[in-house]
Amino acid sequence: MIIAAIEAGGTKFVCGLFEADSGGYAKPSLLARESVKTTSPAETLAAALAFLKKSAESSGSPDCLGIGCFGPVDLKPSSPTWGRVTATPKPQWRDADVAGYFRSELGVPVAFDTDVNAAAYGEYLWGAARGLKDFVYLTVGTGIGGGVFSGGALIHGMSHPELGHLRLAREAGDDYPGRCPFHGGCLEGLASGPAIGERWKADPASLPPGHPAWELEARYLARAAAAYALVLSPERILIGGGVGMRPGLVERSAELLGEELAGYLPALAAPERLADFLSRPALGSEAGLYGSAALALRLCED
Ligand code: ZN
Repeated sequence: MIIAAIEAGGTKFVCGLFEADSGGYAKPSLLARESVKTTSPAETLAAALAFLKKSAESSGSPDCLGIGCFGPVDLKPSSPTWGRVTATPKPQWRDADVAGYFRSELGVPVAFDTDVNAAAYGEYLWGAARGLKDFVYLTVGTGIGGGVFSGGALIHGMSHPELGHLRLAREAGDDYPGRCPFHGGCLEGLASGPAIGERWKADPASLPPGHPAWELEARYLARAAAAYALVLSPERILIGGGVGMRPGLVERSAELLGEELAGYLPALAAPERLADFLSRPALGSEAGLYGSAALALRLCED
């Protein structure tokens, strides 16, 4: 069968068409993909739709579509605003009906979740969380967000977890106010890519290894990971995203996580255990797209 997937991100929409085997959860084969820059909802959604329709001409029409969307989004199936973006800092996207648009334009069932829940699901099926019933996937890039698997299922609850908006104890001497429009110095406000750029007045990619920016970044990620470890009792925490995938960052955070926990969780006492516990997603930058395909596959299989 053919499945379509969209990783709907705040800077780009990555769209893909896949061929998948029926009756199982084998990793599907990518037939075509395209990135569309995120501008206004009307322009972005139309460009993504045009790609899917064009590739369907040669590959066959999709049976279903999975969308992993930047948030916050409305995920309540019974809600009249299901499938929409809600209180986003991007004013144009507020109330944008992402899932409804594709459902009516393509005429197929649409699975809709947060981008990070989708990526977590992809890692669960085909990545670094295979076989785990309890884990956290965190992405650190333009923003910070996370998906949580608990007891073998994605947590939704009243909406979805917001791991990036945790307020953290400040590191001594750090007086940067933070840039979250809602909280100032929450994790996202202190440690997202734009926060690093603003704090150090430089493009994060240009900051060399050994720059104090990276030690501080590793410290805040370790502090957040300690909170997730204590509250959720996951078996693993995966950190990805444009900033999160920077060489050495997750490894350093894993070392600092030991300090943050101060020996409190015996299961994580050994340094090699920490390095396994706080590690990288296996699907890397593909986690969002494949995770969205995984959502579509699950919908088709159900
Ligand atoms: Zn915040």
